[in-house]
Amino acid sequence: MLKNLLSAINFLPEAHACVLMYHRVAKLESDIWEIAVDPDRFEQHMQLIKRKANVISVKELTEALGKKSIKKNTIAITFDDGYADNFHVAKPILDYYNLPATFFITSQTIGKEEELWWDELENIILFSERLPAKCSSILVGSITDFDLEQEVYLSKDLLLKHQSWNACEQSPPTLRCVLFFHLWQKLKPLPYAEQQLQLRSIRQWAGRIRNARPQYKCLSYNELQILGNSILHDIGVHTETHPALAFHAPIFQKQELLGNKTFLEKATGKDINLVAYPYGNYNQDTTDVVKEAGFKAAFTTEGKPVTNDSDRYRLGRFQVKNNLEYQFSQQLQHWLNS
Ligand SMILES: [Zn+2]
Repeated sequence: MLKNLLSAINFLPEAHACVLMYHRVAKLESDIWEIAVDPDRFEQHMQLIKRKANVISVKELTEALGKKSIKKNTIAITFDDGYADNFHVAKPILDYYNLPATFFITSQTIGKEEELWWDELENIILFSERLPAKCSSILVGSITDFDLEQEVYLSKDLLLKHQSWNACEQSPPTLRCVLFFHLWQKLKPLPYAEQQLQLRSIRQWAGRIRNARPQYKCLSYNELQILGNSILHDIGVHTETHPALAFHAPIFQKQELLGNKTFLEKATGKDINLVAYPYGNYNQDTTDVVKEAGFKAAFTTEGKPVTNDSDRYRLGRFQVKNNLEYQFSQQLQHWLNS
């Protein structure tokens, strides 16, 4: 009673857990979405949370949520998408420090010689040495009235601007960046087949061939199996083809979520009952499908802690950026005390 009263008037912060969201552990020449953490920095992050927090698996967190027994200073680690570096770089570090993680994996790119669509689009538009000046025929079925003017050739200056662009926080600094963002917005809500059709058209317009860069590959089927058979780590659903779910009908959403679940269960031989919504994009239909299918919890990309009263199908996560140890430490302290 007293505890409730104190909590209500904000003297006693509510016990909560922070779920960290990583995507990639890799040193990249450009990272416009801030989704890659350098391997040495990732190791520093892991050392720090091992020292300062109580690290539990997402599975343990969802059980604690059910019992309303989440303790303060608790951290869980997640990865989205299924990049190969999760297996080759992150897993050995996590294993060394005995820290559990949950990997949310999209089926489509597993074992394929293809990049995720946003990586290929970025590579074509921002890093092609030469592009046609006129962009009217870049997409199938719509005219893009755009002229690249002096940006047809990728100058050193242009390259540096593109390598240092942060698309989440800065407006596009070049015409190529404006074009990239325009195309990214057009492609994001489309289903996979239409995205691929448009990518093919963009590739042809740019005179490029389909070619997955080694650093941008996703997991092979065998790597997924090994990751899934690890005692320490868990696998979760991230849909079949990574659509922005809320743009689509409930039947499509169900197929994307359950098709991915079946694929991952076959690969790992385990029950898969955790979800992360691609792009953090979802609506009421999504949470209805996830509830009906018996998933135990689902994560968004909203930066908020998990409390004993959180909705288990709208759990927040904090995106970890490529921060130095002291910056990460300050950030972590802020999240843990928020
Ligand atoms: Zn994703």
